[in-house]
Amino acid sequence: MARIHVLGAGTPTPTPDRFGSSYVVDVAGEQIMVDCGPAATYKMVKAGLWPTNIDYLFFTHHHFDHDVDYPCFLLCRWDQSIGKENDLQVFGPDLTERITHRILDENEGAFAHDWIARVNFPVSQQVYVNRGGVLPRKPPHVLAKDIGPGRVYSAADWEVSAAPAEHVQPYLDSLAYRIDSSEGSVVFTGDTQPCQSVVNLARDADLMLCMCWDNQEEMESNGESPFQCGTAGAAQMAQDAGVKRLALVHIGPHLAGQGPMEKGIGEIKKIYDGDVIFSDELMHLDL
Ligand SMILES: [Zn+2]
Repeated sequence: MARIHVLGAGTPTPTPDRFGSSYVVDVAGEQIMVDCGPAATYKMVKAGLWPTNIDYLFFTHHHFDHDVDYPCFLLCRWDQSIGKENDLQVFGPDLTERITHRILDENEGAFAHDWIARVNFPVSQQVYVNRGGVLPRKPPHVLAKDIGPGRVYSAADWEVSAAPAEHVQPYLDSLAYRIDSSEGSVVFTGDTQPCQSVVNLARDADLMLCMCWDNQEEMESNGESPFQCGTAGAAQMAQDAGVKRLALVHIGPHLAGQGPMEKGIGEIKKIYDGDVIFSDELMHLDL
């Protein structure tokens, strides 16, 4: 049975309960991360997961609430390794390769000083050997790839497809993802306004994790409704796609309050027939 861990269920606004986006899908014995927002590595460990067990990472887009923990995850995954792990494979829209290079590259990477020191300093070498590593320690090696819509990755037991999402183009490209396996199907909308390409991607999926910034009325009145989903937008996409369950994620600080949340669930139930989950960080959802 596939399991989805919700690591980050919030937005760029830090709150004690929610901050940024990040998820891990546990399917067919493999772990796939989607987005790497604030403190994703720390939350992952709180959820009982471990960086070196994650071999795949998919970015929906490169806003900081979806990628700012990427340097931390890369360095932590490398630091905890003993040199026998699989190379991490990273996929995402334009900038994914460039950002990876700018973090780790020996000459141009903003964090290269860290791994160069750990590779060469004797006590760091000893910690590595004590963990089970064999010297000489290899530098981090990550397979990053810029991708567009379509089938983007096929493993033996699961595959990932991407569709265009509509968010802050032309500044940043955005993708929604669907993971299919014999254990079920799950869709991550990423940040998007309601759009047909994401509805088509999500058709009949078992679960859709959809961004939900705020109550729709609130967003219509304060000018925040374009290029993102509120309660009615998320509900309409779920209904149009015929998904079995809708999990609201990327929940804004206003909607996260008790009153607006109850109102929001009412707004969604008027439009969408399936089950609705208001997700909390560190919860998991089984397919
Ligand atoms: Zn976002």
